[in-house]
Amino acid sequence: MSDVTELVRLTAAEMAERIRRGEVSSRELVEAHLKVIEAAEPAIRAFLAVSADEALAQADAFDARRAKGDAEGLPELAGVPIAIKDMIVTKGIETTAASKILKGWIPPYDATVITRLKAAGMPLLGKTNLDEFAQGSSTEHSAFQTTHNPWDTTRVPGGSGGGSAAAVASFEAPLALGTDTGGSIRQPGALTGTVGVKPTYGAVSRFGAIAMASSLDQIGPVSRTVLDSALLQEVIGGHDRRDSTSIPMPVPPLAKAAREGARRDLTGLRVGLVKELSGEGFQPGVEKRFSEAVDLLRDMGAEVTEVSLPHLPYSLGAYYIIMPSEVSSNLARYDGMRYGLRVMPPEGVPQTAANMMAYTREAGFGDEVKRRIILGTYALSAGYYDAWYGSAQKVRTLIIRDFEAAFAQADVLVAPTSPTTAFRFGEKTDDPPAMYMNDVATIPANLAGIPAMSVPAGLSDDGLPVGFQFLAPQKRDDVMYRPAAALEAALEERNGGPIWRSMKTDWLESL
Ligand code: GLN
Repeated sequence: MSDVTELVRLTAAEMAERIRRGEVSSRELVEAHLKVIEAAEPAIRAFLAVSADEALAQADAFDARRAKGDAEGLPELAGVPIAIKDMIVTKGIETTAASKILKGWIPPYDATVITRLKAAGMPLLGKTNLDEFAQGSSTEHSAFQTTHNPWDTTRVPGGSGGGSAAAVASFEAPLALGTDTGGSIRQPGALTGTVGVKPTYGAVSRFGAIAMASSLDQIGPVSRTVLDSALLQEVIGGHDRRDSTSIPMPVPPLAKAAREGARRDLTGLRVGLVKELSGEGFQPGVEKRFSEAVDLLRDMGAEVTEVSLPHLPYSLGAYYIIMPSEVSSNLARYDGMRYGLRVMPPEGVPQTAANMMAYTREAGFGDEVKRRIILGTYALSAGYYDAWYGSAQKVRTLIIRDFEAAFAQADVLVAPTSPTTAFRFGEKTDDPPAMYMNDVATIPANLAGIPAMSVPAGLSDDGLPVGFQFLAPQKRDDVMYRPAAALEAALEERNGGPIWRSMKTDWLESL
């Protein structure tokens, strides 16, 4: 194994430890990942833009600071590079949300999470691919390119954050950020064998996250281990006065919880199996790995019971009214007036503002985005508002109450993350309801604003990764990190190493 392949396979926490011991510099880490990106991208295509110069400059600045003894108070992950979903704005680096309507847009400011990463001395490797405006479950709705699953490049990496998940799974980046409105961090995590976290709504600032559906959107970590996600959430989390929905509360002790979990003692932890998230629609191979993982939790002392959330079957229906309604409102800002694409009407058509907007949106938005804008505009229209949007909001309240009742019986809830493993390109693209079904198990957490995370639970019979989901009460993200780290440690011991050990990584061979 070359130095590069050895280095990039470390966890982010291990990379940070080597930096602290002076064994590796931030620049060396950035250079190693840039080499992997160069080798892997022809097959994976996770990045829309690689910001090599910026990353190297940031690494050099950090290394210089460290040499002066000036890096002492920085977060543990200081110096470790990271990739960013192109749904998060980065000053001076093109940000597109994978849409033609934003092609070429260079943001004049950084999202709060980016400001915090920079302050932590973490270099930004580049911007990762996604479904246009984070709408989709396979990354096939990107206007620019298709990202391939590193486990099997004929399959999707999940979505919408397929780029971030594939980048981390293929060792192009040790860490990434995603956004999760209905599962876009967790479902790609499940399909690529990575860890993906949707924090409590309001626990991480959304300032500078391009808005999809504001009452559901949340930025969160993507990593290969539970501890790495915990450390990353500690960097990006915490109150931000620029986001009015940000919770004025310190970040809970997430890394501490993950480290405790690794000791594999869950004595007395009440784990609730969500009854409604099993059975029909769930692939047998997924259910098998899921129930084996539940057995491991039991072996570590957890008390496992089944809990029922009777309104959960209505989550998908409520989401596909509330989300498009908010999308139709949020995406109204792409009008060709202020920034992004502008398409003037052809000769002979009156050159009015309304016509310019129509031509711009026709050319700038893809089919899935148009579908949701139309659906949402309809659901919010006078005369239909109460029947659709009003009812969906009532259902949302019932789901929130179901979770409150469930968390009276259990400390954490568990369910598979995704009903299936990674599917093939084109398999669901022409069948929106089939595509939407991917998110049955992830959407409830967004509706209730609670934290949830996906951790790898091994490989299904088809040789593809399966995701195991933990859900915790609002503001108690620490509660899910502990059993997640315990399960990760137990699985590693049983399987003789992390899940990626059995992945074929041709692109690393040449390095
Ligand atoms: N796949 C879901 C959707 O298409 C979730 C998207 C997301 O979380 N951004 O809406």
